[in-house]
Amino acid sequence: MNLRDPKQFTEDFMAYVKAKNPGEPEFHQAVLEVVETLSEFLIKNPRFLQSKILERMVEPERVIQFRVPWMDDGGNIHINRGYRVEMNSAIGPYKGGLRFHPTVNLNIFKFLGFEQVLKNSLTSLPMGGGKGGSDFDPKGKSDNEVMRFCQSFMTELSRHIGPDTDIPAGDIGVGGREIGYMFGQYKRLRNEFSGVLTGKGIGWGGSLIRPEATGYGTVYFAEEMLNTRGDSMKGKTVTISGSGNVAQFAVEKVLDLGGKPVSLSDSSGFIYDPDGIDREKLEYIKLLKNVYRGRIREYAEKYDVSYFEKKRPWGIKCDVALPCATQNEISGEEAETLLNNGCFVVAEGANMPSTYEAEHKFLNARILYAPGKAANAGGVAVSGLEMSQNSIRLSWTREEVDEKLKSIMTNIHSMCVKHGKESSGFVNYVKGANIAGFVKVANAMMAQGLV
Ligand code: NDP
Repeated sequence: MNLRDPKQFTEDFMAYVKAKNPGEPEFHQAVLEVVETLSEFLIKNPRFLQSKILERMVEPERVIQFRVPWMDDGGNIHINRGYRVEMNSAIGPYKGGLRFHPTVNLNIFKFLGFEQVLKNSLTSLPMGGGKGGSDFDPKGKSDNEVMRFCQSFMTELSRHIGPDTDIPAGDIGVGGREIGYMFGQYKRLRNEFSGVLTGKGIGWGGSLIRPEATGYGTVYFAEEMLNTRGDSMKGKTVTISGSGNVAQFAVEKVLDLGGKPVSLSDSSGFIYDPDGIDREKLEYIKLLKNVYRGRIREYAEKYDVSYFEKKRPWGIKCDVALPCATQNEISGEEAETLLNNGCFVVAEGANMPSTYEAEHKFLNARILYAPGKAANAGGVAVSGLEMSQNSIRLSWTREEVDEKLKSIMTNIHSMCVKHGKESSGFVNYVKGANIAGFVKVANAMMAQGLV
């Protein structure tokens, strides 16, 4: 491996990662994005290279894969696959969400777990990184079917997790309902009431502001970036993708700060509401998505706005874009369109929503661009606060948690500026987040010997 030239080092390292992890494109993409921004720093700090910290960080500490059999309402048997990737525990117990979606596989969980390690480090809370879930699709299933699946999933997962070992949370397809069923099963199996999952209901160990945290935090981060240019969210036109947990609360905080959200999407298409999604319409979306579990198309029918089947909202003219659905949902071409239409702020509520090409277009255009591991860290940060409240057996008020969330997002922003500011004054938030997140984990790994 070339230890002198950053570009060559990146190429050599990626050849090593690809050879060891064939057929895992999202994992390769997540590692490449980190290595290319870290290589110069690593060459200047050879102790990390000599200790092979990066080689160790791309190797999960443990990968668990298991069978999840369950029975539907008609008595038919289904077999899904469950996963937990325990990526890194250098600075705390494994922490990261569970995703239930038919498209997941080990590659997706390795990419998410790798990102999670650096993200959790950025929060400044003592949390290692992990990620997991299943190829189960909750869409179209009855509550009883979801419950039976969650119970079967947790029956196996329970032997690998614990409040001081590994503390999962929600992600795509895993919200309050699923967390409740899994928590109930864990409690029954272990005969203990512990903070083994976060995202629990208020009244049984949950934290206020946890449901809001990822969406709110993403918008707080965007506001911090705007402030560096003497600007704010007020009066900005904002495109948002997704219509789940993160997207809903991103809309809410954009409204709080005086912006105008004009789009939402789901995996079938997007709606464009040029008058803006106001609070009343947002309440309808929450009902539609969280209670009736309907499709975003129904919003267009109710409010008589345009619906675009199988399309994404990046062709709409906007100042700010908040991708809040899934990975690789902004292509290079779509990034170009956003830039041509005047978009100058992109804050990622989702994990790795920009393709490699899109990310480089944003960086080259020197806009305010925040990668998910910085912008969406508010979710796991408040999960960390939920763990603290569980440990001291107290609940903080909404205001207290929101204040802590704000200050964590401000702190992450400052760390990105510290490590990502270039001589021209431009802040490369990708580089800043990767270096700041890496250093803390790397130092802990060095101190703990060859682990
Ligand atoms: P939800 O399941 O609540 O919502 C996901 C939304 O994205 C839905 O509207 C869904 O549409 C859409 N979506 C999912 N997969 C696809 C796809 N392949 N193509 C197009 N649209 C898709 O998940 P969250 O809001 O919790 O998560 C959204 C993103 O935010 C994910 O990237 C997640 O990793 C990230 N994130 C979430 C955190 C959290 O606290 N929940 C924390 C940090 C990051 P449909 O219903 O049709 O599938």
